[in-house]
Amino acid sequence: MVLIDGKKISDLIKSEIAKEVQEIIANDWKIPHLAAVFVGDDPASQTYVGAKERSCKEVGFISSLYKYNASISEADLLKAIDFLNKDSEIDGFIVQLPLPKHIDGQKIIEAINPAKDVDGFHPVNMGNMVLGLPGFLPATPYGIMQLLERYQIETEGKNCVIMGRSHIVGSPLSILLARNTNPGNCTVTLCHSKTKNLAEITSQADILIAAIGKLEFITTDMVKTGAVVIDVGMHRVPDAATKTGFRLKGDVKFDEVSKKCSFITPVPGGVGPMTIVGLLMNTLKAAKNKIEIY
Ligand code: NAP
Repeated sequence: MVLIDGKKISDLIKSEIAKEVQEIIANDWKIPHLAAVFVGDDPASQTYVGAKERSCKEVGFISSLYKYNASISEADLLKAIDFLNKDSEIDGFIVQLPLPKHIDGQKIIEAINPAKDVDGFHPVNMGNMVLGLPGFLPATPYGIMQLLERYQIETEGKNCVIMGRSHIVGSPLSILLARNTNPGNCTVTLCHSKTKNLAEITSQADILIAAIGKLEFITTDMVKTGAVVIDVGMHRVPDAATKTGFRLKGDVKFDEVSKKCSFITPVPGGVGPMTIVGLLMNTLKAAKNKIEIY
C-alpha cells in the first residue's frame, strides 16, 4: 500500500508556485494578491482562513482579510464584494462558507466577478469546467486531480465511485474524472444518500472517493482489494492527549481499509493540504491572466 502524501505534494507545488512568484518579481510584474472575506467567527473557518494566509506568505503572495461581524446585512456584504470585484490590486478572492443564515450564499457567489472567483464556485466557472473550457476549478477537486497526477495513478478506463454529490467536492470531481483527459477517462458512478446497495457499488470501484462527511463510514467490506482510496472527509474527534483537544479523522476507517487498498490518502495530511494548494494555483492563474506575456 502506498500512502498518498498530500503534505509532501502540497509542499512541492508550493515551491513551484514560489519559483513563479520570484520570476514575476524579477520582471517587475504585479505580485499575486489573494483576499478572503470572512463573516462571523466560526472556529473551523477561522483555522482555514488562517492556513490560507500562512500559505500565501509561504509562496510570496500578498494576502488580505476582510472580516465582518455575523450581523452584516446581505446588502452590505454585496457592497463589499463589489468593492473587491473592482479593486485592481486584488487578483482573486474567496468568501469563506458557510455564511450566516440571513445571507443567501448563492446570491453572494453569483456576485463575484468570475475572473476573480478563485474558489471556482461561480456558475460561469462551473459551466466552463463542465465544457472543459479555461476557468477556475473548485479547490478540493483540483487538489485531488493533482494528487492522482503526481502519483501517476492510472485512471483511464477505471471504475470510479464518488460518494457525495456536493457542489464543492463530489459533483465537480465526477465531471473532472469523466473528462477525456489524464487524469480522467474514468467510468464514474456518483453516489448520494438515496443510493441503494451502496456497499455493492463501492466494492466495484477501482478508485473510491469518499466525500460524505460521515466519520469512518467506509469500512473494508465496502472496498475492493487493490483499490485507490481518496478520503475527503474531515472530522474533529475530541482527544485530550493533543494540544488542540481534538484530532482529525476522515470518512474512511483508515486502519482497516489501508490494509486492503493499493493507494490511500490519510487524514490529516492527504486531501486537506491540497485544497489550499488548489486555491493558490487558481490565484496564480488569475494573476497571470492579467500579465500579457502569459
Ligand atoms: P456535504 O455538502 O455535506 O455533502 C455530503 C454528500 O454526501 C451529499 O451529497 C450527501 O447526499 C452524501 N451522503 C451523506 N450521507 C451519505 C450516505 N450515508 N451514503 C451516501 N451518501 C451520503 O459535504 P461536502 O461539503 O462535500 O464535504 C464532505 C466531507 O468532506 C466533509 O467531512 C467535509 O468536512 C470534507 N471536506 C474536506 C475538504 C478538505 O479540504 N479536505 C474540503 C471540503 C470538504 P445527499 O446529496 O443526498 O444529501
